[in-house]
Amino acid sequence: MVFLSSALSDSRVEANNEANKSQFSTSVYGTRWATEPTPRYVLPENEMPPEVAYKLIKDDLMLDGNPSLNLASFVTTYMEKEAEKLMKENLSKNFIDYEEYPVSVELQNRCVNMIARLFHAPMDNSDDEAMGVSTIGSSEAIMLAVLAMKKLWQKRMKEKGKPTDKPNLVMSASVQVCWEKATRYLEVEEKLVFLQEGDYILDPQKAVDLVDENTIGVCVILGSTYTGHYEDAKTVNDLLMVKNQENDWDVPIHIDAASGGFVVPFINPDLEWDFRLPLVRSINVSGHKYGLCYAGIGWGIWRSSRYLPEELIFTVNYLGSDQASFTLNFSKGASHVIAQYYVLIRLGRFGFTAIMKNLMNTAEILANKLEETGKFKIISDRNGNGLPLVAFKLSAKKIHYDEFDVAKKLRERGWIVPAYTMAPHTEHIKVLRIVVREDFSRERCNVLIHDIVSTLDILDQLDKDYIHKQRTAASRWSLLRNVTHSTYVLKKPETPKTRGIC
Ligand SMILES: *Cc1c(COP(=O)(O)O)cnc(C)c1O
Repeated sequence: MVFLSSALSDSRVEANNEANKSQFSTSVYGTRWATEPTPRYVLPENEMPPEVAYKLIKDDLMLDGNPSLNLASFVTTYMEKEAEKLMKENLSKNFIDYEEYPVSVELQNRCVNMIARLFHAPMDNSDDEAMGVSTIGSSEAIMLAVLAMKKLWQKRMKEKGKPTDKPNLVMSASVQVCWEKATRYLEVEEKLVFLQEGDYILDPQKAVDLVDENTIGVCVILGSTYTGHYEDAKTVNDLLMVKNQENDWDVPIHIDAASGGFVVPFINPDLEWDFRLPLVRSINVSGHKYGLCYAGIGWGIWRSSRYLPEELIFTVNYLGSDQASFTLNFSKGASHVIAQYYVLIRLGRFGFTAIMKNLMNTAEILANKLEETGKFKIISDRNGNGLPLVAFKLSAKKIHYDEFDVAKKLRERGWIVPAYTMAPHTEHIKVLRIVVREDFSRERCNVLIHDIVSTLDILDQLDKDYIHKQRTAASRWSLLRNVTHSTYVLKKPETPKTRGIC
């Protein structure tokens, strides 16, 4: 073919072939690529052999933290090999191609069914069914839920002939950063209930007091990112029912169960936080947190199709049949949905209960041991009414190091334990937090306790100047991170960094 031969005689192709000569005569480290900088800014002119590209990237990634030792994150770092196998086998499927991959869609629907029932969605009326959708994570589900609440509020206000330009959302100041994104992107005013020292749970009365006729909804968090506490959805529901009735409003509750949605049903089944409460209209949960899947899956569940305005659901037919689309993104991988279905049928209620109980016990032991050292004050819940995590601070006031120094020192052993400041109005309080995840065994917990005690011994012996010098010097390591963060448009200097904790 003329076209092909002329393409092959392109001088660039020849140069490329020249550049790649003798590539297999030695190991990757004997080639020129081992001595050249890895391409960073410009698409390289020439190709490189797959083994070389693989090695360059793999070696680069060595400087990432070890996910199993990352006690900062709620996000799953362990899945069974059968789940991983299913994920790999389905990596090439685009979930949105419903017509082509109907079984993947069916698995999503089965997950929605199971999760909606786990959250006690009413099943008694067939024309008033719960609805749900898989998302990339809780953030996407929250974005959709806020959008739905805003549209429904606008509709109610229009019917009453009232203005619709000042919607607000009531929530605690300890919301996860995605709520700030949702309100800013969707132009909804945040009405924050501030917390106070020693009392880190939303005050239901204060929340309901902030509700007015422009309130599109109240967010209640099932498992605060900061301390793991469960906010009191039942009391908010009861107070809001009265206020709605008095004013002829219909302000709903959205439950942010990103972390708690797969813990509470197994540990505190009698706690009423979900669709058992009449005003709870939508719930989000992260499949990739205690739903025990790798990052990339969340769920949005609505009590009934009535709370999902029709104008938000798009019907498209480019892929061969009519299909409904209610997500922010169009394409996404199917493997995470499949993995979630695997976890649900593999573990069942029995498996989830066994795992969550172990995690709760480990968290309790960890909290007790930390307290026994006499050096820490525990601020997370101790009565089994919170997420399996331990949030704690140094109890001594006058010491020459702080929680951030402890975190930094632990990092030298490989442990990633975050230090952060609390939510607005309590930001003077510094906290360390250890999230107990599935792969945090009792043995690993014991080693960590030993290392925390040693860390304090070391810090006690180091003098103040040395620690301060280390703080300044350590900031140089963040150079690499700043490069990658330069595209992070939301970064505002006045926003406390720690609000990005996930
Ligand atoms: C993690 C978290 C989110 C965000 O969830 P993603 O699944 O990471 O998008 C929202 N709210 C709470 C309470 C969380 O813990």
